[in-house]
Amino acid sequence: VFLSFEGADGAGKTTQLRRLAARLRAQGREVVETREPGGAPGAEEIRRLVLEGDPARWSAVTELLLFNAARRDHVERTIAPALARGAVVLCDRFADSSRVYQGVVRGAGAELADSLHALAIGIEPDLTLILDIAPRTGLTRGLARGTAEERFERFGLAFQARVRAAFRDLAAANPARCRLIDAEGDEEAVAARVWAAAAPLFEA
Ligand code: ATP
Ligand code: C5P
Ligand code: MG
Repeated sequence: VFLSFEGADGAGKTTQLRRLAARLRAQGREVVETREPGGAPGAEEIRRLVLEGDPARWSAVTELLLFNAARRDHVERTIAPALARGAVVLCDRFADSSRVYQGVVRGAGAELADSLHALAIGIEPDLTLILDIAPRTGLTRGLARGTAEERFERFGLAFQARVRAAFRDLAAANPARCRLIDAEGDEEAVAARVWAAAAPLFEA
């Protein structure tokens, strides 16, 4: 089973992924927790290349290609082998982040993002949980963690609002794969919504 968590910065993806992993391990399942960009040694190198340094030094299309290269490596080295041995793979961001950040928000084009994915990678998660929060909530949570200040200064609340809207459009366009999760409220409340959406995959 392959499950991805998506949503804007500070939505709670990493927190909820860890909680779901613990719950599934308690059922005796092998769970692989992984993340994008990154998730394999080569892909982590590309992550550093993309996320450190001047964000304006590459065009949107070049950035999309770099994320696709990282994703190809991540699927080859980590995700596909784990799925082949029957593990549950929980991935913190996947191709939908490229559709949203590079494709829609930076403007490389949603069609190009879809075409590159189909050509170079191919697999989609069985289920994608899109954590939906107000940009202001993401800012507050990120400040609590101590890293959002720099990011939100760089991108701004308006940027996060565009990200949110693009994820909501994506959820509406892919109802069979994507579930929009209300990620406002405390961790336990969100975890209950995550479990309600994910549990059908684990009832054998
Ligand atoms: P990023 O995209 O930046 O990696 P994220 O979506 O992974 O962010 P988290 O790192 O899980 O978000 O959460 C951001 C911060 O908010 C953390 O400090 C976390 O402890 C806190 N947090 C997570 N969920 C909640 C919640 N439901 N209510 C309040 N705080 C939360
Ligand atoms: O989820 P995480 O905080 O690890 O993501 C790192 C950064 O990379 C975030 O600021 C996110 O907005 C950005 N990102 C991106 N395009 C992607 C994936 C992540 O711009 N396809
Ligand atoms: Mg995170």
